[in-house]
Amino acid sequence: MEKTDIKSMTLDEIEKHFQSDGLQKFRAKQVFRWIHRGVGSFEEMTDLSKALRIQLAQQYVIPPVKVLQKRVSRDGTIKYLFRLGDGECIESVLMCYHHGYSICISTQVGCKMNCSFCATGQSGFSRNLCPAEMLGQIQTAQVDAGVRVSNVVLMGMGEPLDNYENVLRFLELVSHPEGMNIGMRHISLSTCGIVDRIYELADRKLQLTLSVSLHAPNDEIRSRTMPVNRRWNVAQLLKACRYYAKQTGRRISFEYAMIGGVNDMEWCARELSRSLRGMPAHVNLIPVNDVTGTGYQKSSGEALKRFVDVLESGGCTATVRRTLGSDIEASCGQLRGKYKGGNGYEG
Ligand code: SAH
Repeated sequence: MEKTDIKSMTLDEIEKHFQSDGLQKFRAKQVFRWIHRGVGSFEEMTDLSKALRIQLAQQYVIPPVKVLQKRVSRDGTIKYLFRLGDGECIESVLMCYHHGYSICISTQVGCKMNCSFCATGQSGFSRNLCPAEMLGQIQTAQVDAGVRVSNVVLMGMGEPLDNYENVLRFLELVSHPEGMNIGMRHISLSTCGIVDRIYELADRKLQLTLSVSLHAPNDEIRSRTMPVNRRWNVAQLLKACRYYAKQTGRRISFEYAMIGGVNDMEWCARELSRSLRGMPAHVNLIPVNDVTGTGYQKSSGEALKRFVDVLESGGCTATVRRTLGSDIEASCGQLRGKYKGGNGYEG
């Protein structure tokens, strides 16, 4: 019999299962607390009887997320390569900011979206992560680094809104008061623009920050670099963003990777600021990171500065994102899950 993934279950669901197993209801909360403290086995749940621990291990499984390798940057950023129960590998990045620790986690093994500047798409798509594997990345990193994470960004490998049900369940679990208790205001979800799902998410009115990978001011440039734009264009995407802002009262964060000669011209900034007019928005500019085979060049510091100035004079707030972990290829778009030599890990 296939064992049930208990870590992806809500407290209510565990209670129901336990009741039908003839276990006392309060056991559910006890087990839930252990799981969300990050224990890897029932054996470690020392306030349960030996017999109960054996019974649970026969019926349920806690999906493992183990450190396979890690790299530590000069700035303290740690890039983890994690190994999952079926041998698949994913990456997460732990970053230290003045306000605390932030972790960038993956939501899929690989990605289907194929953005031309991103390394993850190059290795194709393998599978969705379950909620337990998303939680596991945070917990395993916390234990390994001996820190407590206060912010989570769903910006690693994969497209979160292409794994919608599991991501929603993850959000419910990670913010649960008996679990990790990380509030929605401390979580960001980054999407390439799966418009249908943005509407659905908006209607849930979660206090989550929506980060939208825009990277272009118009369809001509965006369709060239991001195939998803051929399904939902810039106008449709921005309409969904306005709806999200209206429903949630939250400002939208737009990601814009600056690629020399492709999307970093002054007229692009003017067009962008016109499109974002009237929307509570913030633009994060990121000089595009090197990914082998793309041929893209980072924009110059001067182009970045000009871009910010034009956006701001158009009434749009913008900042140039500080790059962390660039010496260990831990920056945006450089995560590439398949474990094979030459992907940046030593040893
Ligand atoms: N699929 C989601 C989240 C994962 S990608 C999304 O598209 O938003 C995380 C962020 O890194 C996205 O904004 C993505 O567009 C960006 N990114 C990908 N490759 C990059 C590169 N080479 N340089 C800079 N940013 C990149």
